[in-house]
Amino acid sequence: MPQEWSIQSRGNTCQSCQRGFHDQEECVSALFDDPPGFTRADFCQTCWEKRDTANTPPFSYWKTTFRLPPEAPPEPLQKETAESLLRRLIEEDHKNQTPVVYILTIMLERKKILTEKDVTVDQEDTVRRMYEHRKTGEIFVITDPRLQVEDLEDVQRQVAEMLGAQPSPSANTTVPTNGDENAA
Ligand SMILES: [Zn+2]
Repeated sequence: MPQEWSIQSRGNTCQSCQRGFHDQEECVSALFDDPPGFTRADFCQTCWEKRDTANTPPFSYWKTTFRLPPEAPPEPLQKETAESLLRRLIEEDHKNQTPVVYILTIMLERKKILTEKDVTVDQEDTVRRMYEHRKTGEIFVITDPRLQVEDLEDVQRQVAEMLGAQPSPSANTTVPTNGDENAA
C-alpha cells in the first residue's frame, strides 16, 4: 500500500558532496521510490550532473532555489489555518481525508504558499502531485483523489467547517433583514 501523503524537509547540504547550500543557490530536489514511501534528497548542480541516474533513477525531481530559512519568530497561538490543518491531517494520517487534504493543498497553492513542481502517474494509475513550500522548501507529496465536479461542493463545505474558526466573508453572520431599515 503506497503512502498517500508525506511532507519531507529540505536538506541544508548536498546529498553527495555534503557541501552546505548558500542562500539563493540553484539546486535540485529529488524524490526516490523507497517503499512504502519516498525518500527526498537535495543536490548541488555539479553533483546532480555527475550523478549516475541510470543506476538509481529518481521518481521525480526539479530545479529549485535554496533559501535560508527565515528566523522563526515565536508563533502566537493561532486559529486553525488551511496550512495548519493540512499539516495536522498529514501527520495524523487520516485515511479517509484524501479529498479534504487535496482541497487544502489547492487552497494553499492559490495563496502562493505551495508551488506545484511535478505530477506523476504510477502503474496503478495513482496520480501524485509534488508541491514545494515556498518558505520552508518542504516537499508535500499529495495523492490526487480525482474529485468529480459533483463531489466538489461537499468537500469544500467540509473544509469550511473544519476551518470553522475563520468564517469566509460570504458567510457573514449579520444578515440584514428588510425590517432593519425602518427600525430606527
Ligand atoms: Zn554536491
